[in-house]
Amino acid sequence: MPETFYNQIFTTGSADFFEKDTSYVGRRLSRKNENIMIISSAVDLYGLEEMHNLKKLLFIGFLIAMVFVFTFGKLFAKQIFLPIRRIIRNVNGINAHNLHQRLIIDDSSKDEITDLSLTFNNMLNRLEITFEIQNNFVSNASHEFKTPLTIISGEAQLGLSQTGQTGVANDSFQTILRESEKLEHLINSMLSLAQTGFDGKKDQWDQLRVDELVLSVKGTVDQIIPKNNVGINFDDMPEDERKLVVIGNETLLRAAFTNIVLNSCKYSDNKPVEITISADHKHVVVEITDHGIGIPDREMAQIFVPFFRASNTAKYKGYGIGLPLTNNIIKMHQGSIVVNSSVGVGTKFIVYIPVSY
Ligand code: ADP
Repeated sequence: MPETFYNQIFTTGSADFFEKDTSYVGRRLSRKNENIMIISSAVDLYGLEEMHNLKKLLFIGFLIAMVFVFTFGKLFAKQIFLPIRRIIRNVNGINAHNLHQRLIIDDSSKDEITDLSLTFNNMLNRLEITFEIQNNFVSNASHEFKTPLTIISGEAQLGLSQTGQTGVANDSFQTILRESEKLEHLINSMLSLAQTGFDGKKDQWDQLRVDELVLSVKGTVDQIIPKNNVGINFDDMPEDERKLVVIGNETLLRAAFTNIVLNSCKYSDNKPVEITISADHKHVVVEITDHGIGIPDREMAQIFVPFFRASNTAKYKGYGIGLPLTNNIIKMHQGSIVVNSSVGVGTKFIVYIPVSY
């Protein structure tokens, strides 16, 4: 034992000391000029066991408390964030095609969540108005252009009938007629682009079989480019016919596929184009593959931007409206388009449309 323990007994008469579970007590007794130091030691077995139990209890209590805190914390947090999660789900479901949708507001509570929903709804109001203004502008402008254009082509036809078959005037009228037809096509495409880009009119939606649709697209392409080399491959077609049925607008879907196939013919100078129809567990998959000029890698991201034309298309006529229109139509049908292309090798468009059953 340390020296201080003995010293304390001598100076003060008594001292305590505790080491390794053992308690020591020292007393000084004075008798007949004699100092006697008595030291006794003992181990408090009961106390030690109590301490040990207390330690165990505290440790187990701590673990149980942690499990409770964790579980209740999680449940509590889940409950607290429930409205926020609902808002996120609702906001994710809103896009250009259903901008009229609004977040549900719980009138009974006036908290931050209600404020947040109101703010979102106000923002959606402003966005909807802006979209509508833009959409109406394109629609109105396209309609307004159409009347004078019809008059111009009518006058050109009249002129042609008056000038005979040859001569400078005849050439001029021919040019006017040709160019006004091009302009009319462009205006019609812009009108469709504006219409499909916004509310996506849901009238005339029906169950359609994609293989029949592709066949009718081939018919249209045959009329426009009689010397095309488009072939349809039915080998991968699912046996179950229901896997080929989608819900959609036939005119729009036909326009979408015709655009892609016409592009494939155009940008491959009528080299063979293959269309395959297949299905995965959720979609009908139509692949259109050509062996044409391809799309430069760095420009790939822009091909669905209105009026964009890739840098290698100078020798081909076009306006850059077909693909954005196609993309809008496929998106209206909850589908998607994947494009793989390599310059000088060819391009593959893969269109996915959800099956209806
Ligand atoms: P365009 O009238 O120019 O064909 P689109 O909107 O149909 O307009 O296509 C946009 C651009 O995408 C085209 O200008 C072209 O650069 C590219 N593109 C589309 N399809 C193909 C294809 N099959 N092969 C190569 N390039 C293509």
